[in-house]
Amino acid sequence: MEPTSTLRIAIQKSGRLTEKTIQLLENIGLAFDGYKDRLIVPIRNFDVELLLIRDDDIPEYVQDGVCDLGFVGANVTAERGADVSVLRDMSYGRCRLSLAVPKNGPFRTVEDLRGKRIATSYPNLTRRWFAERGIEVSTIQISGAVEIAPRLDVADAICDLVSTGGTLKQNGLVELETIFRSEAQLVRTNKPLNEAKRALIDKLLVRMEGRQLAERSRYILMNAPKSALPGITALIPSLKSPTVLPLADPDLIAIHSVIPIDRFWEVMEDLKAAGASGIVILPIENMIV
Ligand code: ATP
Ligand code: ZN
Repeated sequence: MEPTSTLRIAIQKSGRLTEKTIQLLENIGLAFDGYKDRLIVPIRNFDVELLLIRDDDIPEYVQDGVCDLGFVGANVTAERGADVSVLRDMSYGRCRLSLAVPKNGPFRTVEDLRGKRIATSYPNLTRRWFAERGIEVSTIQISGAVEIAPRLDVADAICDLVSTGGTLKQNGLVELETIFRSEAQLVRTNKPLNEAKRALIDKLLVRMEGRQLAERSRYILMNAPKSALPGITALIPSLKSPTVLPLADPDLIAIHSVIPIDRFWEVMEDLKAAGASGIVILPIENMIV
């Protein structure tokens, strides 16, 4: 396929990453109609199109320049050994590739798996991990429902993606060790791109950064006695220069600022103790810093 002038972005057609990726693209201002059951979705307000394909195909498509960008799990890119550049970790699609063994079986450590059969959809990552530790195993490649392999005596252990561990438990398996941690990533082709495409990618990245920052931040409002301002400001470094507004009661002020969400939970009690009341936190749609 010849490279086109339209920036082409590969996303998973239907799966765990699809909804979050579509949502993100909408959140950064890309306008498009329905994407279900479509292979190519044109973006109305940018020279961009989405290519909806299986996640396994994304790293190669981006590597070969068929697509300029792709949203795909780090696990898939690593397994395929694709030559692409990671532009952003997306902080969704978090999971881990883990070794698991039957709960009541004889294997307690990774060493116990020497010479055993490991069922996995990730033979390259699995083999590499064992090879680095000098443990010889045989891998059996299975593309789905890897967790039933030990019960069918197709394998002694498995190496599979886990997020909560629920599926492992249901199948009488216990996790032995994590071999790879993953999340969705935005990857870019290493093929040369023209100026227009590079500029467009930069623009989309700035918007993504703003969106991710906004998701991690909250707008905070509170009332306090005027005298409490130094104490409250000291609690939250990002409050160094908060907006301070007068209230009808001349002794009281309203304090507005933006804080990281984690910090808010840490200091909520202290804010109250310092004199703040009527604390309200609001989500932020987007942020440009
Ligand atoms: P496709 O039809 O596109 O090949 P798939 O079945 O291979 O889909 P999904 O199960 O939709 O893939 O998972 C897509 C990605 O989501 C995984 O490669 C991984 O990066 C991520 N993911 C997050 N949590 C999990 C999980 N618990 N199990 C599997 N994948 C997970
Ligand atoms: Zn897949």
